[in-house]
Amino acid sequence: MKKKVFLTRSIFPEAIERLLQFAEIEVWSENCPPPVEVLIQKAAEVDGMLTMLTDPINANVIHIGKQNHLKVISQMAVGFDNIDVPSATSAGIPVGNTPGVLTETTADLAWALLMAAARRVVEGNNEVHQGIWRPWGPDVMCGRDVYGATLGLIGFGRIGQAMAARAKGFNMKVLYTQRHRDLDAEKKLGANFVTLIDLLQQSDFISLHAYLSPETKGMIGASQFEEMKPGVILINTARGAMIDQEALYQNLLAGRVAAAGLDVSDPEPISKDSPLLSLPNVVITPHIGSASIQTRKRMAMMTVGNIEAGLTGNPLPYCVNPEAYSNRK
Ligand code: NAP
Repeated sequence: MKKKVFLTRSIFPEAIERLLQFAEIEVWSENCPPPVEVLIQKAAEVDGMLTMLTDPINANVIHIGKQNHLKVISQMAVGFDNIDVPSATSAGIPVGNTPGVLTETTADLAWALLMAAARRVVEGNNEVHQGIWRPWGPDVMCGRDVYGATLGLIGFGRIGQAMAARAKGFNMKVLYTQRHRDLDAEKKLGANFVTLIDLLQQSDFISLHAYLSPETKGMIGASQFEEMKPGVILINTARGAMIDQEALYQNLLAGRVAAAGLDVSDPEPISKDSPLLSLPNVVITPHIGSASIQTRKRMAMMTVGNIEAGLTGNPLPYCVNPEAYSNRK
């Protein structure tokens, strides 16, 4: 008998076809994430769960899965902060993700936000669409130069490094901070390792590329904004909760932060009443960093590959908690 897999969202037909070769599937057909009660119910029924970053895979979901026959959770994202990984690890349930295949696509979006925020692309576009074409003037719609500026990267993993590669073409000075120094990448990309405070004080552009953890949650708050250069531009394609949203709003309002380019917010979706949305110097997209057709197809196939390995008792090709194997009964 085929193993059962619950998909919290429909994925590309090619990936579904492959999944059907070895599993019986049930797909949540609504255009929004299933509520946690549904996730708990499905965890009790299936052998594998194919999840998205919007699904709260909490300790209850995992506990029920462990009591039944849940063997694998395979997430179609590189980030997995929505999953209680320690619970999955102690339950002996491996968790898969999709690193690498979305790196360049996400860096492209981060770069698009950086350029748009620096050169006020969306503000200009909105004015023209509203029938406002201000006469050319020396100070009309002036933004900031990207070429030759200093870019500070918080997190210098796959996506952070892909940003550094893009910055080279713009003759930028690249600073980075994270817990471990990466000498090979520094050399290859001409980046300089600095402390967070030095990065905040010296960067014209700051872009976040760490993952969300207890350490990075709220890492950019009121006191960090005070350290930044006046007129800095802040880009966040990592996770919204890394930045104190109220402090961001106050600093944008005061003009201390010239502009922000955000693909993520806290919470998501952002409330339509969020004060951030009232500011013309915020360029915001709805968490679409990896959203190119080619990349989403690659992510879907990787996710299916992880499910297949998990169902057949093999190590997942991309596993965030390999320690889970030693906790298996
Ligand atoms: P990665 O290769 O694992 O890089 C993450 C980096 O964060 C690591 O190099 C890590 O270095 C650093 N880091 C961890 N804790 C830190 C801290 N306290 N301070 C500073 N740096 C820290 O991950 P990736 O593939 O580049 O992806 C990064 C994140 O981007 C994902 O986790 C996800 O949240 C987000 N993302 C968003 C989208 C989107 O659609 N917007 C798409 C893809 C990814 P150390 O261990 O040395 O600190």
